[in-house]
Amino acid sequence: MSRDVQQKLEILADAAKYDASCSSSGSKSTRAGSQIGSTEGMGICHSYTPDGRCVSLLKILLTNYCIFDCQYCVNRVSSDTPRARFTVGEVVQLTMDFYKRNYVEGLFLSSGIIQNSDYTMEQLTQVAKDLRQKHRFGGYIHLKTIPGANEKLIEEAGMWADRLSVNIELPTELDLKQLAPEKKKPEITQAMHGIQEKIEETKSDRNAGYKPPSFAPAGQSTQMIVGATATSDDAILATADELYTAHELRRVYYSAYSPIPHADAALPGKSPPLIREHRLYQADWLLRFYGFDVDEIVVREDRNLDLDIDPKLAWALAHREYFPIDVNRATREQLLRIPGIGARNVKRMLSIRRHHALRTEDLKKMRVVWKRTKSFVITADHNPSLGDLDRQDLRQLVTPKPKQLTLFDAFGEALKGEF
Ligand code: SF4
Repeated sequence: MSRDVQQKLEILADAAKYDASCSSSGSKSTRAGSQIGSTEGMGICHSYTPDGRCVSLLKILLTNYCIFDCQYCVNRVSSDTPRARFTVGEVVQLTMDFYKRNYVEGLFLSSGIIQNSDYTMEQLTQVAKDLRQKHRFGGYIHLKTIPGANEKLIEEAGMWADRLSVNIELPTELDLKQLAPEKKKPEITQAMHGIQEKIEETKSDRNAGYKPPSFAPAGQSTQMIVGATATSDDAILATADELYTAHELRRVYYSAYSPIPHADAALPGKSPPLIREHRLYQADWLLRFYGFDVDEIVVREDRNLDLDIDPKLAWALAHREYFPIDVNRATREQLLRIPGIGARNVKRMLSIRRHHALRTEDLKKMRVVWKRTKSFVITADHNPSLGDLDRQDLRQLVTPKPKQLTLFDAFGEALKGEF
């Protein structure tokens, strides 16, 4: 790799790390004194293909020059960050080189806006087109869609890419007006709508027995920055809900605002606590998989999620009249509302109780968090009656003690299908 391309790569992989709409992993720190196995929060990220495989992607910007001046963004026109721009050919070559060395299985490509939306979209699309046509590249491609770009260009992008994303960026129109005045919510949602229509059209052609060209088979996602304005969590979740229902987005990613050099005085000096991002993801699961409505998830008066306990537990504590739930009689929808019981365990419980009545031991065997759950359920051998539910100190009783998470905790939670 030439020195010039290497320097561009350093700048443009670093600039891409702020985009969470392509899920990323990896530690942000490297052990002192290490010589091999260094980790970086940028460069290669991971994403999931439609068949559930985790793939590693080269995550870069085509350029970090931008004509817009979004106040939360390090690449805004008024920022004095070092700039670089790849040619289409350089991105194609880098992707192929990394792929052949087995470093990546695909590409996540985004860009600042150069000249105008159409010109930028053309360049991004050309990268994907060259990879597919000239190199017969079959790996995963995620392209960022530029709002305001011509519909035909977005259609073409979807022919070559597996996933498209249009970032909503901020939860409300007022937030956009304040911090990203050049961005217009109708333009963003129109681009999402166009992608959704095309995905549906392709699906119905396929169902009718035709073989239409593939269009963004891994769907579309978006990113919302959290904590750059004072907007509360219920407004953030209302926007996410609208995106899931009106535009059928596959994922909404929540990205905690991270302070940038020489930021506008209107922006907060530090990031919101990361736990807020985590709680929003948990609330997002309640919306998508647990049958909760957006207006019932946030129970606090300030309309923010409780940072100390997960949103399902917070809801249960605020709605004690709904409990205890008899796990041997309750519907699936009721079981999903019990704190400490995940979707996968609900499925198991429904299947077990066809053969015998569920006892406490059965739930414990499923690794249900009994300490959290016991006050809210009736089993064949356990009935807390109203005793626990009337207790003033129920919140303390069921709140998990703070502890350092380990990889194996997370693995256990994943096995139970709990978030
Ligand atoms: S359009 Fe994108 S790259 Fe440009 S300033 Fe706004 S957020 Fe940053």
